[in-house]
Amino acid sequence: IWKELQERYKKEMNFVSYNTWVDTAQPLSFQKNQLMIEVPSELHKNYWEKNLAGQILETGYRLNGEELFPIFVTPDESTKYTEPLPEKELPKDDYLDAQSVLNPKYTFDTFVIGKGNQMAHAAALVVAEDPGSIYNPLFFYGGVGLGKTHLMHAIGHQMLQRRPDAKIKYVSSENFTNDFINSIKRKEMEAFREEYRTVDLLLVDDIQFLVNKEGTQEEFFNTFEELYLNNKQIVLTSDRLPNEIPTLPERLVSRFAWGLSVDITPPDLETRTAILRKKAEAERLEIPDDTLSYIAGQIDSNIRELEGALVRVQAFATMKNADISTSLAAEALKALKGLEPIGQVSVLKIQEKVSNYYSISIADLKGKKRVKSIVVPRQIAMYLARELTDSSLPKIGAEFGGKDHTTVIHAHEKIQQLIKNDPILEREVAELKQLVMG
Ligand code: ADP
Ligand code: MG
Repeated sequence: IWKELQERYKKEMNFVSYNTWVDTAQPLSFQKNQLMIEVPSELHKNYWEKNLAGQILETGYRLNGEELFPIFVTPDESTKYTEPLPEKELPKDDYLDAQSVLNPKYTFDTFVIGKGNQMAHAAALVVAEDPGSIYNPLFFYGGVGLGKTHLMHAIGHQMLQRRPDAKIKYVSSENFTNDFINSIKRKEMEAFREEYRTVDLLLVDDIQFLVNKEGTQEEFFNTFEELYLNNKQIVLTSDRLPNEIPTLPERLVSRFAWGLSVDITPPDLETRTAILRKKAEAERLEIPDDTLSYIAGQIDSNIRELEGALVRVQAFATMKNADISTSLAAEALKALKGLEPIGQVSVLKIQEKVSNYYSISIADLKGKKRVKSIVVPRQIAMYLARELTDSSLPKIGAEFGGKDHTTVIHAHEKIQQLIKNDPILEREVAELKQLVMG
């Protein structure tokens, strides 16, 4: 069926699109009426879902008389989705080893340190250098896409570097659960325990998904105890603190409190820019600093999305056969944010609307007065200028009475912070956005 689909796309698409989208995709599994397809990135996934999924439904219908539903997954996700193979094809025991591959890209070298993650990074280093002794377990918590998994793998890599024979196991809590349940079914509990209880480092990701199917939590507890008593290092992650995970039993929560819990918070603009710079260098992309900070300004919470934005800009530049610049990035990311064409919004227009809205003069908006009733609107105006125009930082600064570009960055961050905690201001800024764009 995949062949059929390829043929069909080949006919319908031009060569470049075909190579970009279809050639990079890979069918993973075909079960019932679901076809799982692995695509390289979120960007590809969006494209498939929007533009190419219809053909799959149809082709499936034509060939099987049944609709075929595609599921697109990125490599990250596919590890999560892969179900254990059907029983008879499974070489005994092997599924336990078909495991815990550390992502070679997730090392300390590729990790950018910033305010939001420096504690977590430091703790990770300590644990990698001296596993099992000080912070055990080490528990990272924080929002999606902030680097928890990355740091976890980095610990594994670092430990392997010092002790190449160290036994390291990485699992998501779902994989742990699946492993466990399969072991019960196959009556291979011994192998399971051998696998999990003899490691030097156990990394369990997203522990908030550890459910108590058939005694999984009990087994996890016992695994934990055994490793802990033998001074083996355990590293865990979650999206929140252990005591805030409702499904987690009290005794696990209290065990986790024996070690160290560190949070990872969203990176500031500077860190985001640094992360993009590092990525761009790794991919040998020529991107001006201005453009990097522009992209970093567009996506403020999730680093995975930030990386996605970079991929998108890169793909866009390839498509247009142009160098990456701020205006090109703005164009590429426009669709992502659902914004109106950006070129039409000028800094002046923003200043007019903001000055009207708050009944202050444009002169004051551009001036130096430090009273709050003027400072906040001024910062909002700068924030909007940065969000809605493709003017560079220095240019925006210049349009506000010759201010430094760092003032603009500061204003942008400040407002970003404020609207997170202040729903009234958030609404005002949203209204202003409407006014400016409409
Ligand atoms: P989480 O597990 O917290 O959801 P991940 O560890 O999967 O987040 O990180 C998402 C993506 O962002 C990964 O590609 C990771 O390499 C990248 N990333 C996160 N934090 C950093 C950082 N500080 N420096 C460089 N890349 C980072
Ligand atoms: Mg993760």
